[in-house]
Parts: sequence; C-alpha cells; structure tokens
Amino acid sequence: MAEKKQEKTQLVPNNVVSLTDNRCKAEGCKSKSKKAEFCEEHFNWFKAGLITKEGKYVIDFEKKYQHYLASKKVA
Ligand SMILES: [Zn+2]
Repeated sequence: MAEKKQEKTQLVPNNVVSLTDNRCKAEGCKSKSKKAEFCEEHFNWFKAGLITKEGKYVIDFEKKYQHYLASKKVA
C-alpha cells in the first residue's frame, strides 16, 4: 500500500501543480473542481443533466441548456 502511494507522489514533480487531480471534468473547462470533480457551474450543469458525470455534453444539451437558463432566471 505504501509503495503505491510513493509511486503516485513521484509521478508529480514538485514544480508542477497537479492540474489533473484538481480540475473540473467538464469538456473545455479550466476551472478548479469544487464539488464532485466539477467547478461550481458545471456541478449545476451535471445536476441539471446537461453533462454526464464524465464531463461530456449530453446529446440534447442545447435544449436542456435553454431550459436550464430559463429555470435559473425564474429562481
Ligand atoms: Zn467547469
């Protein structure tokens, strides 16, 4: 177990900020992840069903996004 931990540490040099670990998973997003590996905004997208938990846009994203925006305005 300890060996595995060490391995991971060695893969990340000290001068490189660990970007992959702490990034929002949504496609094209460069924000830091805050909740469930998404940034605040994309976590809401995920909850609204706009993106999958892998950060991929759903097929009917456009339609859902409009709906999402509309519901946001009301609230
Ligand atoms: Zn994001």
